[in-house]
Amino acid sequence: MPGSTRILVIGAGTAGSAAIRELAQHEEITATAIINAEVSPYNRTLINKAVITGLVDVHQAHLPDPSAPSIRDGVRAVNPLEQTVHLRSGARLDYDALIVATGSAPRPLPPSIASPAALNSGRVTHLHSLDDALRVRAILERTHSPQVLIYGAGFIGAETAGILRDAGCRITLAASSPIPGITAFGVQIAEQFAQAHQGSVDTRFGHPLTVLDLLGSGLHAVFADGHDVSADLAITALGTRPDAPAPWNGPILVDSRLRSGDHENVYAAGGVAVHELDGRTWRIDHWGDAAAQGTHAARSLLSAVGLGDDPGPYHPRTLYSAQIHQHHYFAAGHTSPLGIPRTASTDPLVLTHEHAGVLVGVSGLDAAPDVMGLVPHLHTPTPKTLTAEFHPSTYTP
Ligand SMILES: Cc1cc2nc3c(=O)[nH]c(=O)nc-3n(C[C@H](O)[C@H](O)[C@H](O)COP(=O)(O)OP(=O)(O)OC[C@H]3O[C@@H](n4cnc5c(N)ncnc54)[C@H](O)[C@@H]3O)c2cc1C
Repeated sequence: MPGSTRILVIGAGTAGSAAIRELAQHEEITATAIINAEVSPYNRTLINKAVITGLVDVHQAHLPDPSAPSIRDGVRAVNPLEQTVHLRSGARLDYDALIVATGSAPRPLPPSIASPAALNSGRVTHLHSLDDALRVRAILERTHSPQVLIYGAGFIGAETAGILRDAGCRITLAASSPIPGITAFGVQIAEQFAQAHQGSVDTRFGHPLTVLDLLGSGLHAVFADGHDVSADLAITALGTRPDAPAPWNGPILVDSRLRSGDHENVYAAGGVAVHELDGRTWRIDHWGDAAAQGTHAARSLLSAVGLGDDPGPYHPRTLYSAQIHQHHYFAAGHTSPLGIPRTASTDPLVLTHEHAGVLVGVSGLDAAPDVMGLVPHLHTPTPKTLTAEFHPSTYTP
């Protein structure tokens, strides 16, 4: 019964905060956010853009308190059969419905590449949390013109290379692929970025990192082709993976309403959620999309308890962008791995992504107005004008 419905939201980052905002509008339910005790939720997008360089302080990156009662504790495990959440403090909470919005964790370096001495030196880090950002900032502050190795050139690695170069660092951007960032940007745009990187920073593309060791007070990195570099700091940027507590300990597969496929009354949103379309899975780990998923999960849940209309299937349409050297990447919807890319225009470069006759994504380089102009057409049959004028990309992966 709605009057007694107890809803728990785990995590109050982007997706969790949006879910809480939606639920808080309904007095008929009791919504409670569970927030990690150690650190208040923060805007993760600021970590590489502003916190590492000291442009904003840690407290300025924090998100506003959630608009609902909250419990400061971590979730150790969920028992979906008993509908209980087990907290790190030992407490247990019962729920009628649960939204998991615990985000993602950085992919680690393959084991055995970094020596224990390198890992313990404080000079090897991901760039995912405020602690990571402060680790980077400390090295920048105490080293003149630091040499920074960034391993991985997807969104975070590529963007951070430009930011730290502009901050006076000497950058080596390395990746195992000869054209890095294909998963994030698609082949055509990744090729343009590879050229931009080569014109802006030292690059080592096409050879995996094999050794990362501490030599004296600095790092020594060796690649599969035998080349080596020294560095004051190594940032690993190998993407993220969904991060849910037990029993998932990884991704939560959701249906079109963001309901868990395996467990009753469980919903998931944001970086932790893996979705399915026509037998293929997809996941989007971007700020605006996580918020949209949080809102959608809350609306699906409210509809299930009789407090709103069915919001329908979730379709990603939120814009996201990255400033990489002199280029501005702009995209919305499914740009990878779903959808066949077509070149809509070469100057500026605009790609449409089509699935079963439907426009599911759009992306472009230095083409914000063109990309934004196509957003209203997302998830509708591809407009005739596009299919008539545009040509399939010869770069289709
Ligand atoms: C350096 C960096 C830069 C980025 N820049 C951009 C950008 O420019 N544009 C863009 O669109 N996206 C960007 N992103 C991605 C974006 O930040 C994420 O997609 C977004 O934060 C995902 O939101 P979320 O709510 O799913 O997860 P999060 O924002 O990570 O929130 C998850 C919350 O759950 C909490 N939590 C986790 N486990 C537990 C537990 N067991 N118990 C209790 N609480 C728990 C966490 O502490 C956290 O507060 C960036 C990411 C990084 C790392």
